[in-house]
Amino acid sequence: MKCSICGKEIETTFLGKIKGNYYKEDGKLIPLCNSCFKEKFGKKEQ
Ligand SMILES: [Zn+2]
Repeated sequence: MKCSICGKEIETTFLGKIKGNYYKEDGKLIPLCNSCFKEKFGKKEQ
């Protein structure tokens, strides 16, 4: 699974779940790595 923005490989767990994030666009799930997700959505560090 690759990040749709930077193209970096996103790690997956042994269950096949990605360690990044998804967001929904036009009804499709788009995979993003954590850093791109933060940049895109401006998620604040706690
Ligand atoms: Zn990325």
